[in-house]
Amino acid sequence: MPPTAPVTDSPDYGTLALALLAALLLVAALLFFLRRARASRLPPTKEPGAAVREEVLPPGPPQPPAPPKAKSESGAPSESVPAVPDAQRMAGQLLERVRATEEEADKKAADERKKAEYWAQKERTAAEREAKRRAAEEERERAEELERARQAAEEEARRAAEEERRRKVAAEGGRTLAEGLAKTRGGFIARLDSLFGRGKVLDESVLAELEEVLVGADIGIRTATELLDFARNELRAKELKDAERLKEAIRGEIARIVGLEGLGAEAGSIASAAPALAARPHVIMVVGVNGSGKTTTVGKLASRIAGEGKRVVLAAADTFRAAATEQLEIWGERAGMPVVKGREGSDPGAIVFDAVRKGQAEGADYVLCDTAGRLHTKAPLMEELKRVKRVLEKAMPGAPHETLLVLDSTNGQNAIAQAREFHAALTVDGIVLTKLDGTAKGGVIIGICDELKVPVRFVGVGETAADLKPFDPKDYVAALFG
Ligand code: GDP
Repeated sequence: MPPTAPVTDSPDYGTLALALLAALLLVAALLFFLRRARASRLPPTKEPGAAVREEVLPPGPPQPPAPPKAKSESGAPSESVPAVPDAQRMAGQLLERVRATEEEADKKAADERKKAEYWAQKERTAAEREAKRRAAEEERERAEELERARQAAEEEARRAAEEERRRKVAAEGGRTLAEGLAKTRGGFIARLDSLFGRGKVLDESVLAELEEVLVGADIGIRTATELLDFARNELRAKELKDAERLKEAIRGEIARIVGLEGLGAEAGSIASAAPALAARPHVIMVVGVNGSGKTTTVGKLASRIAGEGKRVVLAAADTFRAAATEQLEIWGERAGMPVVKGREGSDPGAIVFDAVRKGQAEGADYVLCDTAGRLHTKAPLMEELKRVKRVLEKAMPGAPHETLLVLDSTNGQNAIAQAREFHAALTVDGIVLTKLDGTAKGGVIIGICDELKVPVRFVGVGETAADLKPFDPKDYVAALFG
């Protein structure tokens, strides 16, 4: 009988070892491919993330323990050979770690990107802000340059306009006093002439006629009577037989009355021949009833002052007549002088106060204050004007330096009555007699000077600036008697 092969229960160790080896190879291959796959996903250059990954990653998959090469003495396989499930678990853990490391690296890279973007955005914003600032700066410099050029052009235009205005005022002589007094001359002087015609015998009947002429000449009853007494005395004392000589005597007496010896304008007065200002600004308050020509006179005086190359501030303090402010603004514009004004009905005291302050601040030579000639309120006009005068005194001690009363000569004897009232309330320094060109009542000057002993400073013989003439008694008498 052939010997049968010995049946043994021992495991087939060779097959087992082969299976284990195959499993290890499989794991090794898997790890190799995973590494390759990861390497292909990473950027080729070394970036911060890569370093991190290298740090975080273990040097490599742990090498499975080498398969037992030798058998134990008994020939049984070694107990240290890992089992297949362990290898799978390890591979899984490895995969998990690789994924976590990758995610972390990706997150860091994303953070870095965000940071870089943030800083880039910040730089862009700063650059934009700087560009805007520079543009605004350039714009401001351009605007300043333009403003300087505009101011220079304005100043030049103002100078040219002022020069032109002066030239015009000098060229535009306006009416002469003789022209302005033409109607008066044609009125009472013409009648005097016919009365004293050459060869006329002087007797009581002539004196009666003279009385009629003088009383009708609007020189006021008082002055007319005085002149008549003067003529009578002359006739008696000098035994004047010649009418022409009586006329001369009357002319001399009128010259004496309007001459107001010793009442010349003080230095600094607007009518003074010696215009050196005692106070600067020289403040003039202009008063008179509505329609007398107050505002026009203030405007004409402003033109006159500007024509002399001096500066004046106008105060539109007739706040009860809206048109007065507008009128004065036109005069101010023409003369190139500032006008201080307020709303209709506002406090005239506040306006004159501001005007004086402005005059002081700007070094003006004059401040001319227009005032109301009629009130809409119950307050009496004179009380209101006294108040304005007190405000002027408060604004500048000594002001007003002159109070000028404007009278409309066409009012004849009424003008004398007004002069009396204003002088009593405000102590008038001088009179401006307007509209002589429109009336035959120019003799009113004689009555005013005689009764009030207040000098006439200017006469108006028309509506233009040049039609306001400084009053010269000699010229007046000469223009009156021809
Ligand atoms: P106010 O109310 O006193 O301010 O009077 P205005 O100044 O408004 O003058 C009244 C009017 O008189 C205006 O039409 C002036 O043009 C006119 N006027 C003023 N002065 C003269 C003058 O001397 N001659 C003439 N013909 N008119 C004058």
